[in-house]
Amino acid sequence: MKQIALYGKGGIGKSTTSANLSAALGARGLDVLQIGCDPKRDSTRMLMNGAWIPTVLDLVREKGEDGVSIDEVVREGFAGVRCVEAGGPEPGIGCAGRGIIATFRLLERLGALHGDVIVYDVLGDVVCGGFAMPMREGYAEEVYLVTSGELMSLYAANNIAKAVARLAKRSKQTCSLAGVICNAKNMAGEEELVREFAQRINSEMVAYIPRSRTVQLAEVHKQTVMEYAPDSEQAAVYRELAGRVLTNDRTSTPTPLEMDELEDLALQFAEI
Ligand code: SF4
Repeated sequence: MKQIALYGKGGIGKSTTSANLSAALGARGLDVLQIGCDPKRDSTRMLMNGAWIPTVLDLVREKGEDGVSIDEVVREGFAGVRCVEAGGPEPGIGCAGRGIIATFRLLERLGALHGDVIVYDVLGDVVCGGFAMPMREGYAEEVYLVTSGELMSLYAANNIAKAVARLAKRSKQTCSLAGVICNAKNMAGEEELVREFAQRINSEMVAYIPRSRTVQLAEVHKQTVMEYAPDSEQAAVYRELAGRVLTNDRTSTPTPLEMDELEDLALQFAEI
């Protein structure tokens, strides 16, 4: 079983990437479980044709941990992907990881943490107490950083790389960096910049996802690209990513950059 986690700055497209990756893996006939951890609970929405599934945290609050059944938390979506939303507190409160801890505990008790691939779609806020939880507890074995070429998203990716490096040093931990996914904003020199960034942090760019109108169209139809436009170029990109993730055996301990190094790098490519 592969346990992968996608991390990155809020709004960078982690959920879209995760959902399409899960859909592409599911379409290959694999048993996939996608777990979203975000109070917005929109990680799995496109896999569920726009339905908001109940969150683990809400169900546990309402019924107590022992009162929740597997069918309430795990919902089957497109391509047979099993979908779970950890949920979280009201905006501005922060749950310090309670959402994701409760989710893991419950899924383990219900025997739902199985399959060929588990995809964790984790809110990329480094200051959130729950952020490192999937890595610290050994659930996120292979971490993918989702970033564009914008400085702020590279900055977030670099910060996450710091967390991975710190956790990878602890003997018990199994997490490592598996690659960088460029979710492009279509900036000049972006692909080269992200590829260079990935190399500098001792990793590699495993996918370049171009900005595409098909993604927005699929979204307004409440579907993943894999479902809405399976023959599109964008769907082929996600399929390729799925293949890459499945065969990827190059993981590393990242070497995050200093802030001025990161800024110099961004400047260098902005001026090309
Ligand atoms: S664990 Fe963190 S990211 Fe997840 S819901 Fe709680 S505060 Fe938010």
